[in-house]
Amino acid sequence: MNLHIQNNFTAELPADPNETNIPRQVQQACFSYVIPKKPSNPSLIHASEEVASSLGLSQEDIVSDDFLNTFSGNTVYPDTKPYAMPYAGHQFGNWAGQLGDGRAINLTEVVHDDKSYTLQLKGAGPTPYSRTADGFAVLRSSIREHLCAEAMHYLGVSTTRSLSLMLSGDQVLRDVLYNGNPAYEKGAIVCRVAPSFIRFGNFELFASRKDHVTLQLLTDYTIKHHFPDIKEEGVEKYLAFFQAVTQTTLEMIVNWQRVGFVHGVMNTDNMSIHGITIDYGPYGWLEDYNPNWTPNTTDVQHKRYRFGNQPEIALWNLYQLANALYPLINDAKPLEAILDAFSVGYEKEYLNMMQNKLGLMTKTADDAVLIESLTELLQLVETDMTIFFRNLSNVQKGDTPEVALNTIAAAFYNEKDLNEAVLNNWYAWLESYGNRINQESFSDAERKEQMNKVNPKYVLRNYMAQLSIDAADKGDYSLVNELYELLKKPYDEQADSQKWFAKRPDWARDKVGCSMLSCSS
Ligand code: AMP
Ligand code: MG
Repeated sequence: MNLHIQNNFTAELPADPNETNIPRQVQQACFSYVIPKKPSNPSLIHASEEVASSLGLSQEDIVSDDFLNTFSGNTVYPDTKPYAMPYAGHQFGNWAGQLGDGRAINLTEVVHDDKSYTLQLKGAGPTPYSRTADGFAVLRSSIREHLCAEAMHYLGVSTTRSLSLMLSGDQVLRDVLYNGNPAYEKGAIVCRVAPSFIRFGNFELFASRKDHVTLQLLTDYTIKHHFPDIKEEGVEKYLAFFQAVTQTTLEMIVNWQRVGFVHGVMNTDNMSIHGITIDYGPYGWLEDYNPNWTPNTTDVQHKRYRFGNQPEIALWNLYQLANALYPLINDAKPLEAILDAFSVGYEKEYLNMMQNKLGLMTKTADDAVLIESLTELLQLVETDMTIFFRNLSNVQKGDTPEVALNTIAAAFYNEKDLNEAVLNNWYAWLESYGNRINQESFSDAERKEQMNKVNPKYVLRNYMAQLSIDAADKGDYSLVNELYELLKKPYDEQADSQKWFAKRPDWARDKVGCSMLSCSS
């Protein structure tokens, strides 16, 4: 296995001089060197050939001992020096102080085809930032990260990728529901890949300590290596950086809302400065369309990170990043202007995205009303988001509302809910929709083709991930493989996989792991 190694981050930024692996506050440093813990019996469960190939690795490399050893943390790859980063963050709206890579260890940067990637193990043991926790990860959460990161990529949502999923061979103690019932689970390690793993929280840490020197070093480094298009100097450079992060964050959220993804823990330490989805914890997928839904049991009371609140939270998090960058800018006005533009920009992009979901190719001013009434209608009775939008593409010009309703009827969870009032609401909306698509010059087939490019047929429904976890726990990885392959082509019909184009089964409605997830992972 031959990786083209690069170590810009550690070469150019200040290191923690202390190399002992003991939890502590680390000052004026962007990283601490740390060696992954040797797993007792590592084994590969699954690897992404596409990610491997983007790093210059072949199919042969994937099955090599080198691959197993490097990406399980068993051995350190030649000429690399792994490290963990300190960062801070606002968790559930509250300042949490120093956090950091508590169970993530950056192995190295790799360059291939003129692109640079950082490789990071998750679950490879404690670091100086582990606080009171163990630095490990369990199989269930690692499967969820590996499958979902890759599924998001193929859905066209920017995200960290996942190179590999391995068992460590060690046991990890977890209290899944935090109710005093700890049990041993299989330990696992994922190797994540991204341009970098720098988060909003990395900047917040130095700003909170008034360490403006390290803040500037990190910001300059980030811009130089990851935002090469920024040519401005001085204050303008930092503003352009903040503007760029705001824009990619906005686009990421629009895509989350498009596919029905709920992150679950949008703390500022879980926000990437690349605007990529990061840290797959208690995330979930909307099944019935409910903007108030969050999968995270830790957040059931306030539902801060519910589906419908994600744009607001992204903006709140951007405010925290603006505060962190303020010492480099010393002028609130231009930062506020960028933040104000977020809401306007989001509304515009969201509308455009929803018009595309509805197949409205020539945009009209009235579309916002049609979309707003639809989002209300989708909440009247339990209605499956993915099935509804996918089937809507089968509605044809000239269909009566009754025929159109039949076309989307598979999306309703319970036919008994469809009383006269509900039906009349649907008929009225479908009538408006029918009138609206009649105005389009495009054919039904053209509209369907466009809609099926933005409305996935297959997403990683919460129960699907859980089924693959239950089987994997017994040593059967066939479902992990099957779902991985399925989710590589989420917009394709895949006639052999119809069983995954179905509503959440009733047994999964209130099951732990399916509709309820804790941060314990
Ligand atoms: P999260 O809620 O997963 O985003 O994690 C919040 C913070 O807790 C981060 O600093 C993580 O690195 C840290 N953390 C989470 N789980 C563990 C663990 N098992 N061991 C060490 N640190 C952890
Ligand atoms: Mg995190």
